[in-house]
Amino acid sequence: MTATQAPTKQLRAAAEALRAPLLPAYLTVPVRVVQGDSERMDTLSWCETQHPDDEDCGACEVVETLHSELAGLIAALLTAREPLAALMDAMANEIHTQGGNPRTEEELAKYGYMVPTWPTSLAAARAILGGGQ
Ligand SMILES: [Zn+2]
Repeated sequence: MTATQAPTKQLRAAAEALRAPLLPAYLTVPVRVVQGDSERMDTLSWCETQHPDDEDCGACEVVETLHSELAGLIAALLTAREPLAALMDAMANEIHTQGGNPRTEEELAKYGYMVPTWPTSLAAARAILGGGQ
């Protein structure tokens, strides 16, 4: 995926990347931040058992980050994957031309007032894809 591809293709590729399975199937339950060995709330936890939200039951799958803020950010981003993917798809649908051909970035710049948030969405898509702004 390159910045020269149509914005709609970049947005849809970002949505696909966000929906790519990252974790084993048994870790599809929501991620939580729990107290780790450091006794700080710095550990990501996945568990199918119901128990207090901030505790590791011993059967939880855990990844200790050693930084509370990092654990919170990773958990938030993991949780936001599907809403962000839906946002990428929605923006791709908004800026897609009726003629069947994806609009180029130049066309969007010329007529972008119709969908003023397309540059922000495209920047997010490029960041998700590992590219620059
Ligand atoms: Zn557990």
